[in-house]
Amino acid sequence: MSSSVALRLPSIDGLLRHPACAPLAERYGREALLSGLRQLLDELRLSVLQGQLSAIEISPEVLAGRVGERLTQQQRSNVRRVFNLTGTVLHTNLGRALLPDEAIDAVQMAARYPLNLEFDLASGKRGDRDDLIEGLIRELTGAEAVTVVNNNAAAVLLTLNSLGARKEGIISRGELIEIGGAFRIPDIMARAGVRLHEVGTTNRTHARDYEAAISPRSGLIMRVHASNYSIEGFTARVPTAELAELAHRHGLPLLEDLGSGSLLDLTRWGLPEEPTVRQALLDGADIVTFSGDKLLGGPQAGLIVGRKELIAKIKKNPLKRALRVDKLTLAALEAVLGLYRDPDCLAERLPSLRLLTRPQADILAQASRLQPAMAEVLGEPWQVSAVQALGMIGSGSQPVARLPSAALCLRPQVSKRLRGRCLLNLEAALRNLPIPVLGRIDDDALWLDLRQLDDEPAWLAQLPQLQVES
Ligand SMILES: *Cc1c(COP(=O)(O)O)cnc(C)c1O
Repeated sequence: MSSSVALRLPSIDGLLRHPACAPLAERYGREALLSGLRQLLDELRLSVLQGQLSAIEISPEVLAGRVGERLTQQQRSNVRRVFNLTGTVLHTNLGRALLPDEAIDAVQMAARYPLNLEFDLASGKRGDRDDLIEGLIRELTGAEAVTVVNNNAAAVLLTLNSLGARKEGIISRGELIEIGGAFRIPDIMARAGVRLHEVGTTNRTHARDYEAAISPRSGLIMRVHASNYSIEGFTARVPTAELAELAHRHGLPLLEDLGSGSLLDLTRWGLPEEPTVRQALLDGADIVTFSGDKLLGGPQAGLIVGRKELIAKIKKNPLKRALRVDKLTLAALEAVLGLYRDPDCLAERLPSLRLLTRPQADILAQASRLQPAMAEVLGEPWQVSAVQALGMIGSGSQPVARLPSAALCLRPQVSKRLRGRCLLNLEAALRNLPIPVLGRIDDDALWLDLRQLDDEPAWLAQLPQLQVES
């Protein structure tokens, strides 16, 4: 560094007045621009003193460009749309169910205007927010009464605490599950103040196991849908109807956490069988809890349905106030439930069901259509093929069942040693696109399952921007 003339950073005032900064002030506001400039100049000061920067590098135009980039980054929201091409439809990390237009309109209305959230328009008196959806849920499930909370984890916590605090909760050892995100039945029970009394074994639990556990200390019997794992082989499980009969004989309520809890028999759309809420109630479960954003296809919520006097007890629990749902959720939930009144049109109108039932041939045709564009962008080192693939429902629904789907399979044509790095680079490049594209790596290839690609134009439009590090 033989600079005889010491370079000096431009002054903040000079920069603020410079024409290169004018559009930034206009766009981001003077305050934001000022603090961006200050930050940048502070960072550069030392390098300038040490003579490490050229005159061009600290020209107003270049500095304005750098500040502009930062301000754009800062302004971009953290909540971003992505393409979910993982093959898992109800992906918990990607927001689960997509709402139908009817629900989106309802959310907009609820966001924009005052509404009768807790106000009875007929009597002019104070109302209860659960009343807004109680009628519909009763009609769709056959339940006597209903209450709604923030999610199913909250529903389980609230129900256990309301009905079993300081008593024992009897549950089969095979149902002491953990669901992703640190939801573990034994922990939730403990936090709810219910003493866990596990019965039976991991693979087999009989009616006599439950019966032997019942004592004056018992508060309830609980059954949990195994959700994200399956027990196969030498197994035994007491049917709900038999368990309900046993519970009632001893004056105990039976809770059933269905997890996904479908409102309709999904086999009518060729999907794997899932227990329905109505059937669980018919079998004698006193309270059934399930999620709003899993198979139901609505917003995040936890639905608690069942016997009137038990629901009344649950609603009186002060925890209910802490776990209640907001107006946007209720608006969306009512709209989604409304669609269930017309099951014949459900697969057309409810996005999650439409995606889950998309025929494989359709997806495969789409893969073939998109294959050339993908192959061209990736070029020589990649083999791109349109192939059949297997996806899944997700969110703990039917963990073993696979959805016949189709994908673009991207396979690096390099030595085995380099393959892993290559795949990770491609994965990162896809994540770096304006609308990040998320696939999955399996069997030395990156798979883009196209079941959920319905915005093909947006996907294609950004493809030329893909830059894979080699
Ligand atoms: C998913 C699930 C939950 C948690 O539901 P969230 O709506 O995610 O809070 C609880 N129990 C079972 C059996 C589940 O499958």
